[in-house]
Amino acid sequence: MMSLFPIPISVVKKLDRLRRNFLWFGNKEGKGYHLVEWKTAQLHKEAGGLGVRNLKLQNDCLLMKWLWRLNGNDHALWKEVILNKYGQTDQWCTNAVSTTYETSVWRSIRNLWPRLVKNSCYEVGAGNKILFWKDLWIGQEVLMQVFPDLANICTNLEVTVADSWSPQGWNFFFRRHLNDWEVGWFVELLQMIDGFKGTTIEDDTFRWKHDKDGKFSVGRIYRKEVSWMPENKIDPWKYVWKSMAPTKVKCFAWLVIRKACLTHEILQKKGLPIVSRCMLCSDSRETNNHLFLHCKVTSQLWTMFLSLTETKWSMPEHTADLLSCWIRRGGSETQKKWWRIIPHCIWWTIWRERNGRNIEDRFHNIQKITESCIATFYFWCKEHCIENVEQLVDLLGLL
Ligand SMILES: [Zn+2]
Repeated sequence: MMSLFPIPISVVKKLDRLRRNFLWFGNKEGKGYHLVEWKTAQLHKEAGGLGVRNLKLQNDCLLMKWLWRLNGNDHALWKEVILNKYGQTDQWCTNAVSTTYETSVWRSIRNLWPRLVKNSCYEVGAGNKILFWKDLWIGQEVLMQVFPDLANICTNLEVTVADSWSPQGWNFFFRRHLNDWEVGWFVELLQMIDGFKGTTIEDDTFRWKHDKDGKFSVGRIYRKEVSWMPENKIDPWKYVWKSMAPTKVKCFAWLVIRKACLTHEILQKKGLPIVSRCMLCSDSRETNNHLFLHCKVTSQLWTMFLSLTETKWSMPEHTADLLSCWIRRGGSETQKKWWRIIPHCIWWTIWRERNGRNIEDRFHNIQKITESCIATFYFWCKEHCIENVEQLVDLLGLL
């Protein structure tokens, strides 16, 4: 249904409410905190989100598929019906649908045309469907935007590439002679289109501009469109998901570097009147950075794993920075894999211990915490990265 009909906003809102509640509370009737904003969860994983689909955007991308199919080479009946019903002055799409007195599926689809064009370019064949100044057929921007002053004095902006080109070269028609300062721009224009090989007898084609193969797909458009959301695209996110730890732990690590775990710091920000005290060391306030990086209990776990290598280490201030620089230089692929598990393993161990103390009044001493961390590390490594158990035992013997 979503690939043919526009989804009403009210339905999107209802579905989003259900999905949000399911994300944070599962299938329990929950009351509590949504730890991360919904729009953030909808970002791509490598852009810092969870990759939850944005339904409205997904729907738009599915509908856009009809617009590029309209320019395909096949002669489907639906195209003839649509073109006849709505007419065509543009070479690549129908006229806009302006009637408002009836519900028109095609109107919703046609309204997406400018968004599709933004992600498209044209490959010149015969050149008779491509406008020289207005369509993107060479470079990264349409010529009208690159050379606005030349376009202004051009006699006809609707001229096609085929009309402008002859085997002898380019033909330009300006309303007046060029001024001195315009000659420079004209030379630049000629340089820009200098690589053009000439028209052919093939049809002009409509192409996806962001990939070399020029092919459209719903996934590609979705990816491009969703990335408009402002977000930092640097490292730590990919390392969250690259780790071989179990999925629920990776999601937890994502919360850690988003500083979204319900530590005292966050609960206070949400207005809860609590006195903050680290549950592990009692020496400091419980902040995200303290609990997962600098607490003296946590530090012992970091030091234990760091002793496996010659790495000189200075603990960064933020959890996100730690994940960005937790890279093992050199070593085998297997070594790199188990190295990536370590932050997840420490954070998971610490968080369980912290919750045990906070909620269940269950305390373990540092030796027990260390053993629990090593056992967790052993199981995850055995499961995903080290098939040779002897190798694993040797590794753990060093801890
Ligand atoms: Zn502490």
